[in-house]
Amino acid sequence: MTITAPDPKTTPTHCPYCALQCGISLDPSPGAGAREPVLLTGRDFETNAGALCRKGYSAANLLNHPERLGSPLLRRPDGGFEPVGWDEALDLLASRAASIRKEHGADAVAVFGAGGLTNEKAYQLGKFARLALGTSRIDYNGRFCMSSAAAAGNRAFGLDRGLPFPLADLDAASMILMLGSNVAETMPPFVRHLENARASGGLIVVDPRRSATAELCVGGSGWHLQPTPGTDLQLLLGLAHVLLAESLVDGHYLATRTNGLAGLRASVGAWWPERVATITGVPAAEIRRTARALAAAAAAAKTGGGGVYILTGRGVEQHANGTDTTTAAINLALLLGLPGTLAGGFGTITGQGNGQGGREHGQKSDQLPGYRKITDPAHRKHVARVWGVAPETLPGPGIPATELLHTLGTESGSRMLMVHASNPVVSSPDASKVLEGLRRLDFLVVCDFFLSETAAEADLVLPVLQWAEEEGTMTNLEGRVLRRRAALVPPEGARGELWIMAELAKRLDSPGTFSADAREVFEELRLASAGGLADYSGVDWDDLDAGAAVYWPCPAGHEVSRVPGQRSGTPRLFLEGFAHPDGKALLVPVHSRARVEALHAEGQLALVTGRLLEHYQSGAQTRRVAELAGAAPEARLEIHPGTARAHGITEGQRVAVRNVRGEVVARAALSTAVRLDTVFLPFHFAGAQNANLLTGSQVDPLSAMPEFKNAPVSLHPLGDE
Ligand code: SF4
Repeated sequence: MTITAPDPKTTPTHCPYCALQCGISLDPSPGAGAREPVLLTGRDFETNAGALCRKGYSAANLLNHPERLGSPLLRRPDGGFEPVGWDEALDLLASRAASIRKEHGADAVAVFGAGGLTNEKAYQLGKFARLALGTSRIDYNGRFCMSSAAAAGNRAFGLDRGLPFPLADLDAASMILMLGSNVAETMPPFVRHLENARASGGLIVVDPRRSATAELCVGGSGWHLQPTPGTDLQLLLGLAHVLLAESLVDGHYLATRTNGLAGLRASVGAWWPERVATITGVPAAEIRRTARALAAAAAAAKTGGGGVYILTGRGVEQHANGTDTTTAAINLALLLGLPGTLAGGFGTITGQGNGQGGREHGQKSDQLPGYRKITDPAHRKHVARVWGVAPETLPGPGIPATELLHTLGTESGSRMLMVHASNPVVSSPDASKVLEGLRRLDFLVVCDFFLSETAAEADLVLPVLQWAEEEGTMTNLEGRVLRRRAALVPPEGARGELWIMAELAKRLDSPGTFSADAREVFEELRLASAGGLADYSGVDWDDLDAGAAVYWPCPAGHEVSRVPGQRSGTPRLFLEGFAHPDGKALLVPVHSRARVEALHAEGQLALVTGRLLEHYQSGAQTRRVAELAGAAPEARLEIHPGTARAHGITEGQRVAVRNVRGEVVARAALSTAVRLDTVFLPFHFAGAQNANLLTGSQVDPLSAMPEFKNAPVSLHPLGDE
């Protein structure tokens, strides 16, 4: 397979991995070896200022990789795969979908999307599921990432956008409280936005592990609070208690810009620091110190000091109480009078490349494009009009990802699944249940460019284009819409997912129109989003091409500037009011609940999972990049030396990590970065090293986020193989 560059000039685009969407340039490099067909360099863009992390620098290695799939693969009766032509593959897929639908009903066919899809693919996938397949069963892997933050943002502000302000606003911050996010390892160019807060001694990191980000607090740059896993909510209730008990809140802001103070006050009354300390392990003095420091910095910010920001990440969100925990963080920001002002704010740090856009355009089981609700008659009517169908033909709400995946092939579950840009065999909670579900299916289709662990289970694999071979748009963690550009001629046997959907829609006699052209789909997306909360109707493709900095909502008629550095659309949300009808934010009282799974057996520890610098998500891509795989070839179990000693475990020893759901075998890495009651595993590895064999499938009642971060496990030292 050869990939050639069609145009000798530099192509400005963005990194294929995370939500920072660092700017990169691709130059043809004809003299380079086959594995590196282009020269990839960091480009001066607001989020990264030319810097890239190790993943970004090596991303060109994905393009001409020897394991890249070059034709559709069909499962043979003997269990192997055989290459087939595109017509045969698509004819078969359409006929299986039609026959399964006829026999078992439309919901027997399900679709699983991803936060890595471009806006156009995410949009058209939702439309394809609901019109061409007629199914309500669509959800996506963003359910496992941003759903708690989204639910909390909607509840408090009436609108969810990861960062409701430009990332560059952090540059002047005097204080940043960062909860459950390890940007120093997951998105290193982010760190430059923390420098002012560090220089002011104001970086406060909350993490049960002394992560690379927590290490940034040393030497007077701030401080690290290291709570017991799963107790972030109680810690936040304690901080709110101190603010209210010591009258450190912004009374004018609360009176004029919020509702619900009385209820909140009552809900935190019993959370005095000494009580919180017994639950979280964070000393009462540290809780008071943190609350007082936040209040002092917030007061100073309103008289010209640097801003104060509260930021959350998956560490506090990926729990069965993730919505309430994120809500508690929002409550804290509201008590300080920050959101919707120039003195600071609250934000959540999106993870996946299009984690923001991917949740706006209709991949979620309960959502239509533009953040519209699938149950709202007016919302259905608007989208149906754009799609050229009657509103009553649109299916109702489906079921969220964990339920969708765990019930596959059962009486209530779907019998066929189409997976796009996702690897749920590795990335889903209680992963062995997902594998069992996939193996019960009548027909599994996976669109990917590598034979991921999920694709290896498929009946049909469709090879698709990669980031540098396709046009489209992405929306980064700030809500800024960006152009992804094709720099290379795609490999012969691969096809774009827009084309695949368009071809299948024809074969399925679908109502509505489906295009293979990203710009055409974007134009329709603009219409579908018009008037919605995530309104793209004023975002112009040519403006994006010219480098305009456009943040949604950007309604039609909004004047967009192409002047570099000038922002258009709505870079800062809520300055004029929040998105609730009365313009006020809602303080929502939240309550502590018992741990989802108690540490029953003696000696059980809490398992925290997370990311490594070298890998991205399920690792299906980064485990194939030699430089990254060489640097981090396997999962290592981080364990405190004291805990290791108590279990008879030594550095590098193989350890079986077990609970009721399964077992992971990994080598021990002794480290004082983890607490005595905690162990850490990265979640990028497959097979016997898949951390999600141990994570729980209990979900948050509001967001359906699973309990990823706090599974009880026991340790069993093993001999060498
Ligand atoms: Fe890519 Fe994220 Fe690394 Fe930037 S920080 S280079 S977007 S993976």
